[in-house]
Amino acid sequence: MDEEWIERYSRHILLPEIGGEGQKRLNEAKVLVVGAGGLGSPAALYLAAAGIGKLGLVDSDAVDLSNLQRQVLHGTADVGRPKTTSAAERLADINPDVEVVEHDLRLEAANVMEIVGAYDLVLDGTDNFPTRFLVNDACVIAGKPLVHGAILRFDGQATTIVPGDGPCYRCVFPEPPPPGVVPSCSQAGILGAVAGVIGSIMASEAVKVVLGLPGILKGRILAMNALDMTFREVNVRKDPSCPVCGENPVIKEPFDIEFACGVD
Ligand SMILES: [Zn+2]
Repeated sequence: MDEEWIERYSRHILLPEIGGEGQKRLNEAKVLVVGAGGLGSPAALYLAAAGIGKLGLVDSDAVDLSNLQRQVLHGTADVGRPKTTSAAERLADINPDVEVVEHDLRLEAANVMEIVGAYDLVLDGTDNFPTRFLVNDACVIAGKPLVHGAILRFDGQATTIVPGDGPCYRCVFPEPPPPGVVPSCSQAGILGAVAGVIGSIMASEAVKVVLGLPGILKGRILAMNALDMTFREVNVRKDPSCPVCGENPVIKEPFDIEFACGVD
């Protein structure tokens, strides 16, 4: 352990729950962040700062001016550049020890298992239901813990899925909502700071999962509303008839869900 390492991570090392051993585990962890947007931005910033050894970022979009209101990984000069490139530069500046892997693509049934398989843990900060269900199914099948987050308007929610130990996303929401029922952020709006709160909760959960700390959001959905500033918790259970993690699963490999997101 050199002095620079001790200094950089001293505020973690001071915590008895982390210490030097825990910090080394963080430095060896491989974490995938799906979506370098509103949730992926704060999550990836804190995970890079925490010294996660290998940080994968999945996003096929370019930075748009309308993203900058909440997607704090990117700057004004990045408009038009690939989000993964913009993010990788910012993260390397925060912590050059982190290996950032740019996955400048859309997750699909054809590539999700290979990509998810290269990491210990996945954070889902995607903004659409097809990817959310695809990532849930892939993580359950691959046995990888998954930290889920979602935001809309003044609302946010987060939960942590540990395959084989508690409910998965499909246990709670067996099927995606029909097209047109749930609007997207680009249609309904989002308070930027809500993305910061939920993305930071996701990063906290990821660190705890890596360290094996108790108290993760397993079997619990934490929901917040920033307008009246309330937080509440909903307990959720594993569904024995869940199509992917139940007793007789019918989903044995990930598949692509085709439908238009949000309200037309
Ligand atoms: Zn399930």
